[in-house]
Amino acid sequence: MVFDAIVAGAGIWGCTVARTLADGGKRVLVLEKRAAVGGNVRCETDPETGIEVHLYGSHIFHTGIDEVWGFMRRFTEFNGYQHKVLARYGGKTYFLPLGLALVNQFYGIDLKPEELPAFIAKEAGKTCAEPSNFEEQAISFIGRPLYEAFIREYTRKQWGTDPRNLSADVIRRLPVRASYDVNYFPDWRQGIPLDGYNAVFDRMLDHPGIEVRCSAEFRLDDPEFAPSAERPVFYSGPVDELFGYRFGHLPWRSLRFERERAAVKDFQGTSVVNYTGAEVDFTRIHEFKHYHPENRGAMEAPSTIICREYPKAWKPGDEPYYPVDNQASRELLAKYRAEAAKVPGLVVGGRLGEYKYYDMDKSVARALETAKAAC
Ligand code: UDP
Repeated sequence: MVFDAIVAGAGIWGCTVARTLADGGKRVLVLEKRAAVGGNVRCETDPETGIEVHLYGSHIFHTGIDEVWGFMRRFTEFNGYQHKVLARYGGKTYFLPLGLALVNQFYGIDLKPEELPAFIAKEAGKTCAEPSNFEEQAISFIGRPLYEAFIREYTRKQWGTDPRNLSADVIRRLPVRASYDVNYFPDWRQGIPLDGYNAVFDRMLDHPGIEVRCSAEFRLDDPEFAPSAERPVFYSGPVDELFGYRFGHLPWRSLRFERERAAVKDFQGTSVVNYTGAEVDFTRIHEFKHYHPENRGAMEAPSTIICREYPKAWKPGDEPYYPVDNQASRELLAKYRAEAAKVPGLVVGGRLGEYKYYDMDKSVARALETAKAAC
């Protein structure tokens, strides 16, 4: 087949771009360096129990964007799973996010919804007018005791640095609610693909206009796949890797997952428990069977698959997970973006390419926008 476009990297961004281009009549070659498509959303089924194991940490699809939900629903039905996260701290278990359930339990009080904001404001005390870092922002949101219990050490583990060195933006991800709503995400359009994530990517790429080659790495200096105005390349790997790290490495946080089969039917009673104190090095434990309550066989199986998540600094060869947003990384990113802009037909996107802390739905939204503009 003669191709009109190349998609390098078959994660959720790349697959969405490929499908949208193909729907628009383009012939698309997808190159994926791993042995299988799906990027970090890739899963595998445990043969013993039928549990869907998320290989790169828990992925819960949730969105407030109609178009994204409509797009995903073309390829899968979602189960009714609504994500809840619990936190272990000081020998007790709390419901996140920070809301009435957690605050009342933590302080041993019984606030009503309308009383929570004033209580939190009092706890927050006098804080600086314009919080300039993560810690100041967090304390101005929730006060010091809650910050120290649920945020400070978790964040230190997650980012490998004192929270005072982090940008205030990261904490804006964490909701505070004046209610007993313990859904972690505010989006009611939420769930796990009924027959698993892998099937979603297979269906997205199942189109006569798409050819997929796995274990095929894209390189900018490979003349066979060179981008041009006539045959663009949509690349979603790390942008610094694309240019041979010529200005240096963009900093990432990486993760190490320690997977274990526990010989109990239910290890922790829920899918994710955060460990917010400093007494353990991991940040959370995932228990995957809880993502598919409709899969009765897996739920009733006598064992369960759990996974401890240990954050670590990224070094070459590790998987990049979280971009580290600071002044130095922004400057470095600007240099790589300028390089990319010089290459006609090269479009860089996705969490790795854009170096942005995107949830899955934001990647899909960006991909739809990018691909539609190219059709
Ligand atoms: N966070 C925290 N305590 C928690 C959960 C999150 O301090 O129990 C902070 C932490 O700094 C983290 C950020 O909030 O990096 C965003 O958390 P989220 O759960 O959204 O991260 P993700 O699931 O994407 O890793």
